[in-house]
Amino acid sequence: MERLKNCRLCPRECGIDRFSSLGFCKATPSPKIARAALHHWEEPCISGTKGSGTVFFSGCNLKCVYCQNFEISQNGFGKEVSVDRLSEIFEELFEKGAHNINLVSPTPYVPQIVDAIKKVRDTVKIPFIYNTGGYESPQTLESLHGVIDIFLTDIKYKDASLAQKYSKAPDYFDISLSAAKKMIDICGNPQFDENGILKSGVIIRHLVLPFCRKDSIEILETLASELSPDSFILSLMSQFTPDHDILANYPELCRKVTSFEYNSVVDAAISLGFKNGYMQEKSSAKKSYTPPFDLSGV
Ligand code: SF4
Repeated sequence: MERLKNCRLCPRECGIDRFSSLGFCKATPSPKIARAALHHWEEPCISGTKGSGTVFFSGCNLKCVYCQNFEISQNGFGKEVSVDRLSEIFEELFEKGAHNINLVSPTPYVPQIVDAIKKVRDTVKIPFIYNTGGYESPQTLESLHGVIDIFLTDIKYKDASLAQKYSKAPDYFDISLSAAKKMIDICGNPQFDENGILKSGVIIRHLVLPFCRKDSIEILETLASELSPDSFILSLMSQFTPDHDILANYPELCRKVTSFEYNSVVDAAISLGFKNGYMQEKSSAKKSYTPPFDLSGV
């Protein structure tokens, strides 16, 4: 917990005392949670038939202007819990039959999460997933060695001006690519159980944004040239949904991705050899994929 007194858990390196101030992420000293429940809208190898035991943390170190979870990533909705309660939540999700424990936006709470997982590692015998926007520091990732089984990470932008405009992180691409490489080092190549559920490995997600298909294709080209195709699973997402007031300041984001935009990115992925990943149906661009943040299970 000493790390919270001079917080440098992520590349923002705010250096603040989390017990007396809020950093860029606005995370509280204790883990703040908005919902803990079975979730059925992740990739099929994560949600399976029984659902992913998903814990939505409040606060975020990226705060993308178009975030679907705006209520928690930027407005701070949630309830603070102790490390003991967090470990109980993991046990409760396990008892409900979850295929895995899925930690969404965990970065600001890594020390507490590691402590909570260590308390239940012998009883909660399912994979733990670190579900992140990809803006991660190598030291923080190193502390997850032997604790986290699966990384679900984003690579959102290659272009620094896009990363600055939408997430105030001009260095995002280099950091998220290095983070993905580190995650692959930690978890190894993807491993599945007999039912096709992911046991360990890395999924790299990319959400196609309006007017950004060329940036998307450049990201895919870099992934194809720098990473072994067997070392991760690619998940291309089309679900961008403009649905909150701040987008009035970003008029170019006030529409969904067109079929032409999404299909051109999918075509590029296929021609680059990404044949075993996930390509989302265009019809999945619905707000209903965002769960209610109602403190369920907290
Ligand atoms: S986790 Fe939050 S407070 Fe800590 S360095 Fe990152 S943004 Fe700043």
